Amino acid sequence: MALIRRLPWHGAAWSALRSLHARDVHAILLHGGAGIGKKSLALDFAQSLLCESPVAGGQACGACSGCNLALSGNHPDLRIVVPDAMAELRGPEAVGDDVTDLSSETDDGIAGPPREGRDSGKKASREIRIEQVRELADFLGVSTHRGGARVVVLAPAESLNQASANALLKMLEEPPSATRFVLVSDSLDEVLPTIRSRCVLQRVAAPDRAVALQWLREQGVDDPEERLAAAGGAPLAALGDAEQQLDDATRSGLFALLAQGAALPPGEVAAAVPRALPLSAAITLFQRWGWDLLAYRAAEYVRYHPRHKASIARIAKASATESLLGWLRSLEAMQAASDHPLNPRLVVEAALFSYIEALKDPQSRTRRES
Ligand SMILES: [Zn+2]
Repeated sequence: MALIRRLPWHGAAWSALRSLHARDVHAILLHGGAGIGKKSLALDFAQSLLCESPVAGGQACGACSGCNLALSGNHPDLRIVVPDAMAELRGPEAVGDDVTDLSSETDDGIAGPPREGRDSGKKASREIRIEQVRELADFLGVSTHRGGARVVVLAPAESLNQASANALLKMLEEPPSATRFVLVSDSLDEVLPTIRSRCVLQRVAAPDRAVALQWLREQGVDDPEERLAAAGGAPLAALGDAEQQLDDATRSGLFALLAQGAALPPGEVAAAVPRALPLSAAITLFQRWGWDLLAYRAAEYVRYHPRHKASIARIAKASATESLLGWLRSLEAMQAASDHPLNPRLVVEAALFSYIEALKDPQSRTRRES
């Protein structure tokens, strides 16, 4: 999940989480204003507990198998519980104050686009349902898969109804060893008192204006003052949808390249990629393209870029799932490193070259022929 992680204003809250962990506090309720990255912080903390070789300050190393499993939404000892109505926030491309839920796994066991929302007749729940909490009982009832910690991230805590809260209470009261619950709330007053009373409350502060503006500039936002003001000072809300940071000409240009599939001449890539572009936004667009290809292969479904359905269908039919997953993994690594790229243009070109390679993959050719 390509979340924006390790937000620069979370230093104090991070230290507080580390000391709660050192005191063996097993249930923490993170609270504070919306759009300041509390869920990102909760996931950073969860990953650090699952990391097999944490670095200084207790941060996750980002490289071990525990980190890789957590980052891809596949760690068997991590559960992320959110209401169905937040399904659009799930998925590996989710940006900002978002979370990924394991219920969106594909058959390959890799977190994919959410399946909710396709049944247009059924309204997705805004509550965390009791079934979701009961599923946690199975998760908590067996020993940990990887022999380390086990973490439940639940958000927002105010979306627990009375029944699901009651089911959760028992788990909060008698947690198995090495288990940590991290609950997240934008609105502490709305969290049921029974839940609040069983957690240690940890407030997450909003960033200073200067810090938020600097961070938005680093994300490639052109008019950070205006956007931050419009979002009430919440930087993640101000960032909005990452892909929208690309101007129309750049977006169209990238789609024109992607639509050529395996036939895209490498020489055309260098000529067509603009000299300067917001890297994270471009990689987000590629990731969504990749997920659409996979979704089309699985169910002839296009979620993100329906205007390009004809191209997506043509390319998806001629590709192999395994090769597409490989491309998505390389995009995820690029996204993770997009904070400090040497040269955004070169990274975007590399992403397109690996796209061509993935579509030309010998394995995919063999499969098509067989
Ligand atoms: Zn690690």
